Amino acid sequence: MNADASARLQPHARIAIVGGGPAGSFFALAAFQIAARLDLPIAITIFERKDLSAPGPRGCNMCAGILSSRTVHGLDTLNLALPPDVVMGRINVYTLHWNDQHIPIDPPDATRQVLSVYRSGGPRHSPFAPVAGFDQFLLDQARARGAQVLHERVEKISFASQPRVTTSARAEAFDLVVLAIGVNALPPAFGNLTYHPPITETMAQDELVIEQLPRAEMNSAVHIFFDQPRDLLFGALIPKGHFVNVSLLGTRLDRASVQQFLTDPQVARVIGQHPPQACGCQPRIAAAPAQNFFADRFVAIGDACVTRLYKDGIGSALITARAAAETALTRGIHRAAFAAHYAPVCRAIARDNRLGRAVFALTGASRRSPLLMRTLARALAAEAQQAPRDRLTSQVLWSLFTGDADYSEIFKMMLHPQRIARLSLAMLQEIMRKKTK
Ligand SMILES: Cc1cc2nc3c(=O)[nH]c(=O)nc-3n(C[C@H](O)[C@H](O)[C@H](O)COP(=O)(O)OP(=O)(O)OC[C@H]3O[C@@H](n4cnc5c(N)ncnc54)[C@H](O)[C@@H]3O)c2cc1C
Repeated sequence: MNADASARLQPHARIAIVGGGPAGSFFALAAFQIAARLDLPIAITIFERKDLSAPGPRGCNMCAGILSSRTVHGLDTLNLALPPDVVMGRINVYTLHWNDQHIPIDPPDATRQVLSVYRSGGPRHSPFAPVAGFDQFLLDQARARGAQVLHERVEKISFASQPRVTTSARAEAFDLVVLAIGVNALPPAFGNLTYHPPITETMAQDELVIEQLPRAEMNSAVHIFFDQPRDLLFGALIPKGHFVNVSLLGTRLDRASVQQFLTDPQVARVIGQHPPQACGCQPRIAAAPAQNFFADRFVAIGDACVTRLYKDGIGSALITARAAAETALTRGIHRAAFAAHYAPVCRAIARDNRLGRAVFALTGASRRSPLLMRTLARALAAEAQQAPRDRLTSQVLWSLFTGDADYSEIFKMMLHPQRIARLSLAMLQEIMRKKTK
């Protein structure tokens, strides 16, 4: 590849975005916003291999579809207002189910509401009409603001004096190539580039048709379970209109794990026995960052670069897309510009994920100890009498389950002296109760 040590985007520069998922659309939207500020006309082409409005695997980017409150606020910064028909659920409570107890976790304040969406036109075997999906909404917004969208799979990205993008229909030169292909597709061939995709883990999820509960009630609550299968860290039921998404987090999980999860009587009490399955998949999730994710006239964003561990991947796609766009438009499109202004943002996410692993390890250890779980239940019940902002343990759990705070913040909240004191008291009370039984 050519050393291009001072390259900057010139008026009418051409940018190719490979992948029209959230990261690709966010980059286009942020780039147009910055270009307007700089009065710099640019031309953006988004290559997307799928029809994102189609139901099931033809259109889906495979995810539980939770938008954390900070992602929802992030959409405002791109002047995006989610149309009501894209929103499948407005979540006001997370209910923890453990040992036949139900413990409600409320948002710390009204600004922390969470939304659920579909990433495509809905589940594959749906008795209902396709729904309006989040990814298609973003892509339409990018198109409305000037992006050209080509429904073609990029087969090759090569680099000579300029990067060149090849599909079955064309081979064109661009000034900058933005890689936003996620981690669930075979990457294109890279001529002369040493990009290594992220390390991934496999997850399991299902979409079920809900007939049992009143939908209004269902659509405002996420239900969390801990009891089975064995290697489960936690499983969630996420409401989405006529359906509920089943998402499991843990190790060694597969389709059989979903079936086992659904036989838990506590789960059956929420969604009924054997609800019809409408879709299911085992997508990959990025677990460690990509290597060599930038070069002269090349940058990877979203899952193809780095994502927040297990939670709020769409939010971190917005963060990396915006940082890459800001760098490309204001600092340059050469390796040194990305190294100085983009890479630190990605490394901060990777660093925070290391703390995230510690937070999940602690959560996993608590889940395996009946005493710690009883202590947690007691502390949460005592906290319920206090004002929402003083419910320290609820705040930790809300942030952990919804993904609306960095792991470093969650870790700090976990170690808050007042919280530790309250948990210690609850544990003492649990031990005494057991002794006097
Ligand atoms: C089980 C599971 C549950 C999740 N739950 C949540 C959640 O609730 N909330 C949340 O915020 N995040 C969640 N995530 C993470 C979230 O899905 C990702 O972080 C997010 O989709 C990343 O967006 P992206 O645009 O980088 O990649 P993707 O969404 O994967 O988009 C990549 C796009 O590139 C296209 N593409 C790929 N290769 C090519 C090619 N060669 N040519 C043209 N187009 C191409 C694909 O078709 C796709 O549209 C979850 C992930 C998993 C696996």
